[in-house]
Amino acid sequence: MRILLLGGTGEARTLARVLADRHDVISSLAGRLNMPELPAGQVRIGGFGGVDGLVNWLRENAIDAVVDATHPFAAAITANAVTATRRMGVPLLVLRRPQWEPSESDRWDVVDDLAAARAQAESYGTPVFLTVGRQELATFATLPVAVARVIDPPGFEIPGDWVLIQQRGPFTVAEEREVMLRYGIGVLVTKNSGGEQTSAKLAAAQQLGVPVVMVRRPLLPRGTVSVASVSEAAQWVDGLLRAT
Ligand code: NAP
Repeated sequence: MRILLLGGTGEARTLARVLADRHDVISSLAGRLNMPELPAGQVRIGGFGGVDGLVNWLRENAIDAVVDATHPFAAAITANAVTATRRMGVPLLVLRRPQWEPSESDRWDVVDDLAAARAQAESYGTPVFLTVGRQELATFATLPVAVARVIDPPGFEIPGDWVLIQQRGPFTVAEEREVMLRYGIGVLVTKNSGGEQTSAKLAAAQQLGVPVVMVRRPLLPRGTVSVASVSEAAQWVDGLLRAT
């Protein structure tokens, strides 16, 4: 089977490794990071050029199936993958890790989008810890005091009273607590990415009584077949092979 694996996540890298011995897998990255963690096997980098570009690419590369293991907030590429594969009659599976759920002792304000997250965070009037990713930071530029953690620097000058932490996770709960205490963080803003790689900040916030502004995930397009784990995704691909 020749599989296009839309990636940019830890799950996509694990799936590429798992499938490598028995399928022809081409992983695709958007090219957002200066030094991305590369998956095993073949990799292509850069956008396809919208739905039409993806349709052409699937045809030219004789792709049998697509697995979309992109980040839960990468809604545009997922929408394109759904449309392009339907047009081509190519099977598509979306791999989405489960979202985080609050426990009774968590203080979460759940909001629909980043603009609402900014307004909610601003209402606390305290230093804000932003872990929303570099591309989303501009939405928060009106916040007077914030600590923004990113992998690569944002493409704009951050406000004078902000602190920029350039670091790639995962982080431990102790490290997250240390950051929150050092900068007197009063509220944490994050997207509901889910997964264990970046969840320590939530445990740290809970321990310190720091409220969390949690941005809700975009919904998957209607009728999309999805699984929540790498092993289920691997089974789906293997099942396609058995069916041919
Ligand atoms: P997006 O808004 O859904 O996609 C915007 C455009 O980027 C797409 O239309 C596509 O361009 C291109 N693109 C996105 N993912 C691609 C991929 N895996 N391979 C080839 N082209 C891709 O995506 P995003 O939110 O900017 O995320 C970009 C990448 O970063 C994704 O691969 C995602 O897995 C990863 N990531 C995102 C987040 C996040 O919070 N959004 C966090 C961690 C990792 P064309 O239309 O030209 O094909």
